[in-house]
Amino acid sequence: METPVADIESPWMTEDLRILRDQVRRFLEREFVPHRERWDRQGVVDRDAWRQAGAAGLLCASIPEAYGGGGGTRAHDVVIQEEFGRAGLAGGFGTGNGVHSNIVAHYILAYGTEAQKHRWLPGMGSGEIVGAVAMTEPGTGSDLQAVRTSARRDGDAYIVNGQKTFISNGQTADLILVVVKTDPSAGAKGVSIVGVEAASAPGFRRGRNLEKVGMHAQDTSELFFDDVRVPAENLLGEVEGQGFKQLMVQLAWERLSCAFGAAVAMERAVELTSTYVKERTAFGQPLMSYQNTQLKLAEAKTQAVIARTFVDELMVRLLAGALDPTTAAMAKWWTTDAQCRVVDECVQLFGGYGYMTEYPIARMYADARVQKIYAGTNEVMKLLIARTL
Ligand SMILES: Cc1cc2nc3c(=O)[nH]c(=O)nc-3n(C[C@H](O)[C@H](O)[C@H](O)COP(=O)(O)OP(=O)(O)OC[C@H]3O[C@@H](n4cnc5c(N)ncnc54)[C@H](O)[C@@H]3O)c2cc1C
Repeated sequence: METPVADIESPWMTEDLRILRDQVRRFLEREFVPHRERWDRQGVVDRDAWRQAGAAGLLCASIPEAYGGGGGTRAHDVVIQEEFGRAGLAGGFGTGNGVHSNIVAHYILAYGTEAQKHRWLPGMGSGEIVGAVAMTEPGTGSDLQAVRTSARRDGDAYIVNGQKTFISNGQTADLILVVVKTDPSAGAKGVSIVGVEAASAPGFRRGRNLEKVGMHAQDTSELFFDDVRVPAENLLGEVEGQGFKQLMVQLAWERLSCAFGAAVAMERAVELTSTYVKERTAFGQPLMSYQNTQLKLAEAKTQAVIARTFVDELMVRLLAGALDPTTAAMAKWWTTDAQCRVVDECVQLFGGYGYMTEYPIARMYADARVQKIYAGTNEVMKLLIARTL
């Protein structure tokens, strides 16, 4: 039995993954959980946490060992991500690592040249290099083809100009995969991705660490590029104009990853709340004895189990190389909508304590909301699904 909520073991779980899960759980409890509140207050995790995570095998778990990764599969990434969620670290290091290991490293693995893979991936696996991906701009988020940040070829370099916003790991990132227009007149076909190495990019500047409703330990920033000279060899892949296609392929996994985060959050919310309502009394009886409490938690548990069943099925498909973007979009919107509903109902059952940030359910409430917005809004997910009708 995994947890009282998801009491069916995931079909993709193996002995190797169970061992990893226990190791990650122990590591997080010992090394990261004691710092969580401080990280929330400072708005970013310690830089050293990245190196610690690298040494413990928590970074780039599904990148081949030849490039300094863990040599596992996407299931290894998910096991690690789930443990961040169960430890209450999803809205901090969990999200940062999600972007770093699950997204940035996989763009490089899938599209990078051999030289790029060898230059960037080993450092990402060890935590020496922190990765970010910068698509969103102040003027455009959902409509990615409309990005205005430009990369103009000048001899053996690109000159990058523009501005990005809401970039996860923006304060700490050493390597930023920046979505640019190499041909401003060509729409989606003019989009490319270039790797900006922050330490050697005069003209690159980090803006504010943005103050958010939740996910306080996750740094989210504006980034500015003023005539930044980036070596032409930093173009991801060797051909301009591939960026939009590269993004679309990788986004399916990013969306499933959000759905896994939602499933774990629902399970945790139901567990925390079930425990609380058995202990808390009102009018001389435990809250759990009231039928309303039972019905609300029955609904919440049902939604958590539906989410778990769905994401597990998609994980099986992903491991078989058969995850399609439409079904990933369905999982992203449905599970994150359900997460927000379930966590809200759970807050209600905690009463006033549910609104106090010292209670994990209150932080889960604040952290949940963004799930319906990032990685493609839930409205955009439905538009993608509608195209197949
Ligand atoms: C905490 C956080 C972390 C993030 N991390 C990153 C990151 O690391 N890298 C990165 O590049 N971005 C990141 N983002 C940005 C995120 O992906 C965007 O905010 C998101 O894609 C939405 O874009 P937008 O904010 O410009 O909203 P808009 O595109 O302006 O959308 C506003 C509203 O209009 C709706 N809408 C838009 N188009 C349509 C349409 N055609 N039909 C119907 N409705 C529509 C949207 O669904 C939404 O409800 C992050 C955002 C947050 C909040």
